[in-house]
Amino acid sequence: MPNEKRDVFFFGNGKAQGNAKMRDLLGGKGAGLHEMTRIGIPVPPGFTISTAVCAYYDSHGHRYPKKLEKEVPQSLGQMEKILGRRFGDGGDPLLVSVRSGARESMPGMMDTVLNLGLNDRTVQGLIRRTGNPRFAFDSYRRFIHMYADVVLGIKATSTNGGDPLAEIFERKKNARRARSDTDLEAADLQELVGEYKDAVKKATGKDFPEDPFDQLWGAVGAVFGSWNNDRAVAYRELYQIPHDWGTAVNVQAMVFGNLGDDCATGVAFTRDPATGEKRFYGEFLVNAQGEDVVAGSRTPRPIADLFEAMPEAANELHRVCKLLEKHYREMQDIEFTIEGGKLWMLQTRAAKRTGFAAVRVAVDMVEEHIIGKKEALLRIEPDQLNQLLRPVFDEKGKERAHREGRLLAKGLPAGPGAATGRVVFDAEKAVEWKKRGERVILCRIETSPDDIRGMDAAQGILTARGGMTSHAALVARQMGKVCVAGCEALHVDYTERVLRVNGSELTEGDWISIDGSTGQVFQGEIQTLPSEVLRVLLTESLAPKESRIFQQFARLMSWADEVRRLGVRTNADQPDQAAIAKAFGSEGIGLCRTEHMFFQGDRIQAVREMILADDETGRRRALAKLLPMQKQDFKGILEIMGSLPVTIRTLDPPLHEFLPKHDEEIVELAKVMGVAVDVLRDKVNVLQEFNPMLGHRGCRLGISFPEITEMQAQAIFEAACELKREGKNPFPEVMIPLVGSRPELHEQKAIVERVASATQKAYGVKVRYAIGTMIELPRACMVADEIAEEAEFFSFGTNDLTQTCLGLSRDDAGKFLPSYVLNGILPEDPFVSIDRDGVGALMRIAIAKGRKVRKKLEIGICGEHGGDPKSVGYCHELGLDYVSCSPYRVAIARLAAAQAALRNKPT
Ligand code: PEP
Ligand code: MG
Repeated sequence: MPNEKRDVFFFGNGKAQGNAKMRDLLGGKGAGLHEMTRIGIPVPPGFTISTAVCAYYDSHGHRYPKKLEKEVPQSLGQMEKILGRRFGDGGDPLLVSVRSGARESMPGMMDTVLNLGLNDRTVQGLIRRTGNPRFAFDSYRRFIHMYADVVLGIKATSTNGGDPLAEIFERKKNARRARSDTDLEAADLQELVGEYKDAVKKATGKDFPEDPFDQLWGAVGAVFGSWNNDRAVAYRELYQIPHDWGTAVNVQAMVFGNLGDDCATGVAFTRDPATGEKRFYGEFLVNAQGEDVVAGSRTPRPIADLFEAMPEAANELHRVCKLLEKHYREMQDIEFTIEGGKLWMLQTRAAKRTGFAAVRVAVDMVEEHIIGKKEALLRIEPDQLNQLLRPVFDEKGKERAHREGRLLAKGLPAGPGAATGRVVFDAEKAVEWKKRGERVILCRIETSPDDIRGMDAAQGILTARGGMTSHAALVARQMGKVCVAGCEALHVDYTERVLRVNGSELTEGDWISIDGSTGQVFQGEIQTLPSEVLRVLLTESLAPKESRIFQQFARLMSWADEVRRLGVRTNADQPDQAAIAKAFGSEGIGLCRTEHMFFQGDRIQAVREMILADDETGRRRALAKLLPMQKQDFKGILEIMGSLPVTIRTLDPPLHEFLPKHDEEIVELAKVMGVAVDVLRDKVNVLQEFNPMLGHRGCRLGISFPEITEMQAQAIFEAACELKREGKNPFPEVMIPLVGSRPELHEQKAIVERVASATQKAYGVKVRYAIGTMIELPRACMVADEIAEEAEFFSFGTNDLTQTCLGLSRDDAGKFLPSYVLNGILPEDPFVSIDRDGVGALMRIAIAKGRKVRKKLEIGICGEHGGDPKSVGYCHELGLDYVSCSPYRVAIARLAAAQAALRNKPT
């Protein structure tokens, strides 16, 4: 039974003090090593220092808990016993790696030190053991270099220029006229060791630590410290990983993939991480160390070649991978090393995958009886479904690009999808250009963790070096970015800022197109087409049976619908949007913002006439012009939605939004409308407000100008009655915005009811309808019981409710909100994900009070939060009836609602 009180957990020789369930304490890597050891997979022995120590180290001035000083040597002793080697022994030394490993994988963000334990004495032991002085001194000089960088902070910076040790290395190569690193001989490498040590002394004023224990404590501290380096912090912000989790440290016996041609190192996936196809997939390098594969400095070979190069080890690897997938019942991403023909596993974890792969693996695994439908639903990040909707290149556009000789090269299809944008060569530019509205493709020789923000800003990523498991490929897949990696024909020159490829030259800002599904790279822009899923669902230009991904998507969605309790509606103001949403499975319209219709075509003209009218008669005249247009709009939407509910909101925004702001526009409009410039200018001035969002808007407009509500109600009910006459069964729900008191709703409701009954009478039909309100003011929440006396439904307008609850202007908060989130003042942007403590508390009050009066009160949400998976989960917990989101997020909301139902029950 593992002792949770310990700080160090040992694994080796088939026994482990930890297991797969202890990710929080041991980190993902640690938990995987312990579990693999337990199930008899060959893992070099080692131990994990827990994440709890990281927190202690952080909060105790970089000191360790006392008992660690005992537990670390004890665990090292156990490793020594298993291996028959001693740490620091000049005869046959035990060497270790020291690696980070957080609860969630953060690829390449934190530091690693390899070959630790080498010094002038132990290097002799390594020579004896391997009979290979070149290898021993190469390992030694690599160790000093890594240690100097990671632990002693001797590295390239913007102030001191290049990395001093790398410069020494280059000088040595020049002096020896060595073309590649491998041309240096043992004596050269031995000299380098001395020169590196001198450089360390010069930089730090101290000798390089010879004592292996000093080395070990230094490395452990550096790995803990790397949890807070800039790139790790940036990564956590991007993926919302809590800063207080900390990392574990894994100290493990070294195995060498670079001891000769019967050695190798690589990574493998139990299925294809880009497409999800069930095939053993991976890459390796002969005679190399693990970091060489991920760093992308050498392009590795496909795993199929390993079956030829080292059949025994390859078969063993395949067997272990199958075993691991079966054991974890999940697609695995593994790291291995082969030393002298023997396979060692260094890592296993649930593989990061694209949205395409996530759907395919989940559905396939259900068909293969590995997991059940519920588990499959929980395996997919709802937001990943976005990737299935992402455009692909138009084949005709691609053919033309071919004909015009614009195919530049082909790399590895590392992240599916199509991306067109302008070439940029560094991450900062990518971020900067994106800010000014450009689409960019980040083109790098290879990417590193420092590029993370730029990768996020880019449409796609193109690298000249690295394989399918290089940093670029890995991170792109996780972000769902289009990526072509290892496109070797590219020559990227950062100094001249050009990209040369097969005789063509592209400079920064030129257009380039990359196809992450085929690896093709084209010069110029190429038109894109809707994705397969959209072609089946929307344009119907593809038959469902011709698209595997559509079929799998549809199956998954049907499973989601079986378990979810929350309804999913959409926010749509036009028939085409309603049609898209319906195709995605929307069960109604949760918000139709009628004012959006006011901006179309020549309607704005009538709206402006209405605003400028001096009296009710003038307003009614203008409204009469709007009536048939609104009616047509409503009819279109109601017709598409059939008998599903369509929630139509009466006019909400302040009227000045419909008038021009600038003087030239006012002069222009006055001319068009045939009114005096001064009259128009005065009207614009009169309508100016200091706080328009808290001003004359929402139901306040309908109360001041009842004829507006009247016209809108008439348009709604005439449309509905006509449809009813045509044999259809429309279901409008009229929604009054920004209500803060019962009398407001009472007045507006009276108008709607009067018009509804007169119109039905005139048409001689009965229409099913409801009248309700938005809940978007704190006062509305507090008096929700009174409001519910009038309202047949509530819909939370969480955009305004967030604004009014937090006193945070939704139009101005962008200036400072990001820094609030960055500095942890707010856990996340409350306009993206519901602020549970504030807005959520108000919602709870409103729900309780509303349902006390009306037991079956229908309650939904139509603020932007309705499409945010986390908020959807929260709405489920609150017991809402439905969420409403933009059409393209309907599938995401369906999945999020299913996950919420599977994870918890309503309170
Ligand atoms: C809201 O406030 O959440 C809402 C949906 O209304 P609008 O965004 O139109 O103000
Ligand atoms: Mg609102």
